[in-house]
Parts: sequence; structure tokens; C-alpha cells
Amino acid sequence: MIDSSPAFIGLGANLGDPLATLAAARAELARLPRTVLRRFSPLYRSAPIDATGPDFINAVALVDTELSAPALLAELQRIEATFGRLRPYRNAPRTLDLDLLLYGDERIDTPQLTVPHPRLHRRAFVLRPLSDVAPDAVVPGLGRVDALLDGVADQPIERLSP
Ligand code: ATP
Ligand code: CA
Ligand code: CA
Repeated sequence: MIDSSPAFIGLGANLGDPLATLAAARAELARLPRTVLRRFSPLYRSAPIDATGPDFINAVALVDTELSAPALLAELQRIEATFGRLRPYRNAPRTLDLDLLLYGDERIDTPQLTVPHPRLHRRAFVLRPLSDVAPDAVVPGLGRVDALLDGVADQPIERLSP
């Protein structure tokens, strides 16, 4: 692909059947236009921190995409909508959450989109799967992903597979 950018997408689910939801979401990411799914992390399970409800299942995908960052976010929100996500309030339990974590080495700060995702470095459920797919990825302004892991070592999280 010409002029493609690597992008990391965080996936999370904690309602319904989260394992089935993440499998289906992975298939949707593989079908995104002008985008190739390169890697998909192992799955992780963690108890909700700022949220309520059942445990979360999380994963991270690496894609190469010709879509702009806003266009990619729009596609992610379209996929979320097909999974019936409601947003009754912030951090509410959800069937599927797709966050754009990193888009190349870009820093984006608009009302609709902040990249790098502003909370990714504080979350084991993001950093652990992210470091599985790309330990040497650099978070602009913060450094290498594997170097950020120490900061979340106290957060309980269980790797499910492989
Ligand atoms: P958090 O952002 O802390 O993970 P959340 O995922 O629950 O919380 P949402 O309700 O899914 O938050 O998203 C709220 C808004 O965040 C979205 O409408 C979207 O426009 C905006 N947003 C800003 N930056 C990003 C990003 N990098 N990825 C996804 N959404 C983003
Ligand atoms: Ca999120
Ligand atoms: Ca989100």
C-alpha cells in the first residue's frame, strides 16, 4: 500500500459474550477498507477499574492503513455501533470499545480525537497487549512501550491466550 501508516487499536468488551465479541471485532478490523490487519495480541482479562460490571476482555490490533486518523476513528465507531454499543455515561459497561491508541508517530489533538490515546500509558490492559505486538513501538512524548510497563506492574491482569 502506498502512503500507509501503522496504527494500533485497543479493543475492550465486558458485556454479553466478550470473547465472541472480540473475535467478531477482529474479523471486522480485517475487513476495513484500505487497511491490512498485521497483528492481533493475546487476550487479557481484568476487573473494571473506573467502571462497573463484569471483567473486561482486552486486546490490541496493529493495522497498516491508508485511511486518515479521523477516517479510521469513524470506521471504528461504525463497528462499535454494529455491536450495539450504548453510551449512557462515561466508562459505562459496553459491548465493544475500540480506541485509536497510536497512529504512526502523529500527535493529534482535536475535540473528536486525541492521539496518542491520553490514558494508554496508565493502563495495563492497554500496555500489556500493546507490548506483545510491538514492544519497540514509541508513544510520542513518552517513549518505548516496553519501558512504560513498569508503571502499571501493580495492576492485576490475566493473560488468557496463547
Ligand atoms: P477512554 O477514552 O478513557 O478509554 P472511553 O473509551 O469509554 O474512555 P468513549 O465514550 O468510547 O470513551 O469515547 C468518547 C469520545 O472519545 C469519542 O466520542 C471520541 O470522539 C473521543 N476520542 C478522542 N480520542 C480518541 C481516541 N484516540 N480513540 C477513540 N476515541 C477517541
Ligand atoms: Ca476506552
Ligand atoms: Ca472509546
